[in-house]
Amino acid sequence: MAPVPAVTQPLDVLRATFGYDGFRGDQAEIIDHLIAGGDALVLMPTGGGKSVCYQIPAILRPGVGVVISPLIALMHDQVTALEALGVRAGFVNSTLASDEQRATERAAIAGELDILYLAPERLGMARTQGFLDRLQISVFAIDEAHCVSQWGHDFRPDYLRLSILHDRWPDVPRIALTATATPATRREITERLALDEAKVFVSSFDRPNITYRIEAKQQPLKQLLELIRTEHPGDAGIVYCLSRASVEKTAEALEREGITALPYHAGLPASVRSANQNRFLREDGVVMVATIAFGMGIDKPDVRFVAHLDLPRSIEGYYQETGRAGRDGLPATAWMAYGLADVVQQRQLISSSDGDDAHKRLLSRQLDAMLALCETLRCRRQVILDHFGEDAGACGNCDTCLNPPESWDGTVPAQKLLSTIVRLDRERNQRFGAGQIVDILLGKRTERVEQWHHDRLSTFGIGTELADAQWRAVVRQLLAGGLLTVSDRHGTLGLTEASWSILRGEQQLSLRTQTAVRPSRTRRAKATGSRSAAATSLDAADRALFEQLRTWRAETARTASVPAYVVFPDSTLVGIAQSRPGTLDALAAVNGVGAKKLDQYGDEVLHLVAASAGTGSDKTREPPAPDA
Ligand code: ADP
Ligand code: ZN
Repeated sequence: MAPVPAVTQPLDVLRATFGYDGFRGDQAEIIDHLIAGGDALVLMPTGGGKSVCYQIPAILRPGVGVVISPLIALMHDQVTALEALGVRAGFVNSTLASDEQRATERAAIAGELDILYLAPERLGMARTQGFLDRLQISVFAIDEAHCVSQWGHDFRPDYLRLSILHDRWPDVPRIALTATATPATRREITERLALDEAKVFVSSFDRPNITYRIEAKQQPLKQLLELIRTEHPGDAGIVYCLSRASVEKTAEALEREGITALPYHAGLPASVRSANQNRFLREDGVVMVATIAFGMGIDKPDVRFVAHLDLPRSIEGYYQETGRAGRDGLPATAWMAYGLADVVQQRQLISSSDGDDAHKRLLSRQLDAMLALCETLRCRRQVILDHFGEDAGACGNCDTCLNPPESWDGTVPAQKLLSTIVRLDRERNQRFGAGQIVDILLGKRTERVEQWHHDRLSTFGIGTELADAQWRAVVRQLLAGGLLTVSDRHGTLGLTEASWSILRGEQQLSLRTQTAVRPSRTRRAKATGSRSAAATSLDAADRALFEQLRTWRAETARTASVPAYVVFPDSTLVGIAQSRPGTLDALAAVNGVGAKKLDQYGDEVLHLVAASAGTGSDKTREPPAPDA
């Protein structure tokens, strides 16, 4: 054993308390900067490891670290997770009874806490200010700092008050953290929180363990089920839908198919929402079907997939939502199904939204960038990182890298489609949506076609070389590329300036071929007996032990009524299953096993490992897993 150093260093705390070997990225530098008394603005993707950046300074500097967080519903779990590591933590928010609150405040004043979570609205109360005046404060951490931005969908008016921290306690170092990276948001945070002097730390936004996939929406529910059954059986995941109605419908449909799925949206009573959130956090393998109201601050590390059944409004939103997958660094999937109707719907939402033209233009630009991502022939990750101003090579871990889409010359079909729209508009002063235009091109004598005499148009039936679905893909890509517009709530199609260069033959149009891509991991998941994706890297014997550890963890978590990951995250269970420690020292070397947990669970885990070696699941006797 190494001698205990005289002064405890950040790395000692990381190892002994958190059980990790070394710092990632900028963590060490951020922590040193704060401990030395500096302010910091930290931009790091979800799962990047923001928490230790303020937790370790709070532990090492004298006094209590005050963490401002908008996520009241999660504070209890955050404190529980810290206590499980042996860190002295507490929280003050409106869910506490007044005697509980007083007890926490007394503990903080007496120097018995290292970290105190505080809801932002408390700072406006004279009582809270008086309480904070009596504390020795080591650091202020402002979590989810983008909530200060009035343009963002996470805006919290209480965050505007946070400049008080600087005014009233100028000597306390402050750290603001967020995963939302646009330059505009960054400027707003700096201004409103008076962080001009702060050192800015920008991490790479890449999340290499997430596989990005976007496919054409055909039968979304069936496609989703296929994803869950073949690649993520028994895994925790989040399914995002645009409307409350589709959230409920989808959750019910998954339940009918035997998948544990819960709904979450702003229209549900608060008690139902928090019960569902708790089950998602506490139980293994729950699928949360939600609107974007769900997810901020959910630091469940083992969410294995995030699925979008509707098109997100912006790459920022999409990246924040998909970033909730795979925080533990193990393989995870970000999957989306998107179709023509999504494009039409989002365009309509923008044109009917209130707000001035400048705001609508901003929304349009955001949607355009999102659509360009959907229709790209390039590496998805490259397009995403490019959006955040980062250069990257092709990733090899997205659908377009794994299965490059082909392009075809769509100039002539596009001309046929556009000229149909021109004819309707010019000759008859009529405007129609995609359905009618495609019917005309295909020469279908539907009731509506006959009613409007569209069979007399010169373009009637000139498009039989493509099927209905292919035509819809053409319309979708023209809309995505700004070569068509949707003008009103009926989904009426119209031409744009750029359409004319196609019609006049001045510009060729390259379109994406629709391929239903499945990366090879799918086959592997099937071949290995449809187990959790976290375990796909394990061979059969290790996987058996992993599943036993998971069962043990579920029981342990239930007894202690804490979320499963508070006991150990999946990544730690994978580490144990692979290294099969035989002693407490060997167990302590596994990533995520700190002193307190070693003490608490060490013997039980060693017992499980030993028992698994003796029950015939010995590695040498098991045939190797078939691998496609
Ligand atoms: P964020 O708040 O940035 O989304 P977290 O602070 O929740 O991310 O960290 C994400 C995951 O990474 C957590 O499970 C955390 O324990 C783990 N983690 C953080 N720092 C390290 C590190 N230096 N080594 C290993 N794991 C780490
Ligand atoms: Zn790629």
